[in-house]
Amino acid sequence: KARSLDHAATPPPRPVALTAFAGAAGEVGNPASLHATGRRAKLGLEESRERIAAAVGAHPSEVVLTSGGTEADNLAVQGLFRARRAADRGRTRIVHTGIEHHAVLDTVDWLVAHEGAESVLVPVDDDGAVDLGAWAAALAEAPHRTALATLMWANNEIGTVQPVAEAARIAAQHGVPMHTDAVQAVGAVPVDFAGSGPATLALSGHKLGAPVGVGALLVRRDVSLEPVAHGGGQERRLRSGTVSAALAAALAAAVEEAVAEQSGEAERLGALRDEVIAAVDAVGGVTLTGPRDVDPATGERLPAGTRRLPGNVHVTVPGKSADALLFGFDMAGLDTSSGSACTAGVAEPSHVVLALPGRTEADARATQRFTLGHTSTAEDVAALVGALGRLRPSGR
Ligand code: PLP
Repeated sequence: KARSLDHAATPPPRPVALTAFAGAAGEVGNPASLHATGRRAKLGLEESRERIAAAVGAHPSEVVLTSGGTEADNLAVQGLFRARRAADRGRTRIVHTGIEHHAVLDTVDWLVAHEGAESVLVPVDDDGAVDLGAWAAALAEAPHRTALATLMWANNEIGTVQPVAEAARIAAQHGVPMHTDAVQAVGAVPVDFAGSGPATLALSGHKLGAPVGVGALLVRRDVSLEPVAHGGGQERRLRSGTVSAALAAALAAAVEEAVAEQSGEAERLGALRDEVIAAVDAVGGVTLTGPRDVDPATGERLPAGTRRLPGNVHVTVPGKSADALLFGFDMAGLDTSSGSACTAGVAEPSHVVLALPGRTEADARATQRFTLGHTSTAEDVAALVGALGRLRPSGR
């Protein structure tokens, strides 16, 4: 069996989530039905909602269940854009970075192409961190014409953790709602919805150990969103469609366990990650992409997850092709990724690497990502370190 160094794509489901799913999936009941069976399903659903909310610092009424991260991002970006624009036709600007996930970027592009939105791109630094000065300037420039701002909590390719609370504070100063895609952050770094200030926050079940097919958008109670799906008016009318009480139960169990284990896992995985980074540094000709968990001013070590996701290593290897590297590791029994799992299969240069200053298309095609998660072991890391010679310019 191959060893997974690709937890950021989808980690193995957590047993607690599968048990919760199986328990609830056997029950008949549409939570919207008014009979006793329906009411029981509704009770189970509301208990799951409370547990999800508690795990991420939200109020239960702020949890809008979706099919996953992509749907949550779409609901946030389209929903905020349309609601803000309906209230004032002049609000067309969307402030964002170039390293957002395609679920956000392609939605922005769609709104630009079809609904008169204007994309306002804020640069990131060499580590992929948003330039807060430029962020503040973009918001200050025309706040009355800005529909929303969006900044991902942590990047899925290069692992950069963004200063979300500070960015949200700046957006709020200008009266602009901010969305954050926290799909890679929840369970990996501390995430507190109320404490960090965004208007909306996307999370995805399968990245946390729930089965694929469930996620949530947290929507602050004072924020209005235009729904994308219309119908029965479930989920505060924001996401019509019968809610899966079983998937909600699985998400609740997974997010609870992931968040409970977060700080211990950050330390454990951060140490394993740093072993891989040290081995990468020793290869030569290979560049770590994204930040290190050290203070840039003093060089002092910071707790894992401060600047970089604890389980993420991403490298650029000039002269190599991402796909060839991936197949090489595959042959060695290691599941890795060329970068974004969501565009894997299509050999495209990484838009995230291209958004970093001074990077070329060649750099963006010569990438490899190794990600650790809840089932990762020291043996997985030893096997990876043993295979890193493949990254050498002459290594085959
Ligand atoms: N946002 C980020 C940062 C991601 O990493 C992903 C998945 O790779 C998504 C959104 C999409 O989430 P989902 O697969 O649940 O649709």
